[in-house]
Amino acid sequence: MVRFVREIRDTMWSILVGMRITGKYMGKRPVTQQYPDERWSLPDRFRGFVHNDVPRCTACKLCAKDCPVDCIYIEIEGKGKERQMTRYAIDYNKCIWCSLCTEHCPTNCITMSHDYDHSVYRRDRLVYEFVSEPVTPFKPPRPEKPAKAAKPTPDESSEKEA
Ligand code: SF4
Ligand code: SF4
Repeated sequence: MVRFVREIRDTMWSILVGMRITGKYMGKRPVTQQYPDERWSLPDRFRGFVHNDVPRCTACKLCAKDCPVDCIYIEIEGKGKERQMTRYAIDYNKCIWCSLCTEHCPTNCITMSHDYDHSVYRRDRLVYEFVSEPVTPFKPPRPEKPAKAAKPTPDESSEKEA
């Protein structure tokens, strides 16, 4: 009999605790998000899928050298004016989202985007090809040389000495 009463008491107590938590949220707005129509706004430094803005890529391969898991594939053909990038691909099966590839890019064309929901059924679909046909790598404009200071005229030199 004592056990029966104790079980009723514990049950009532657990219902009360549960209802108290439920009551706390009764007057609040729902927090359920209608994904994918609604999405959280992500922090600026969120690391999503790596993106390369190919028109600004110089094909220098620094990103591929920095990548610790060798998941960036860059293929180049030709030399000099004939130089073309025939492949720029990232294998997201291997990517560890470390962001090292973005550290030394001379044109900042490779970035960690805010994309994160590229679900696929086959793993080979996670190898993203950024170049569909050969492209001429971007050549950044050379920085202008600072203008040489004009030599002082003989009059100016004599004024300084005085
Ligand atoms: S985020 Fe890291 S692992 Fe992924 S491509 Fe860049 S360097 Fe490689
Ligand atoms: S470091 Fe930047 S410019 Fe160089 S190959 Fe990679 S993405 Fe292109």
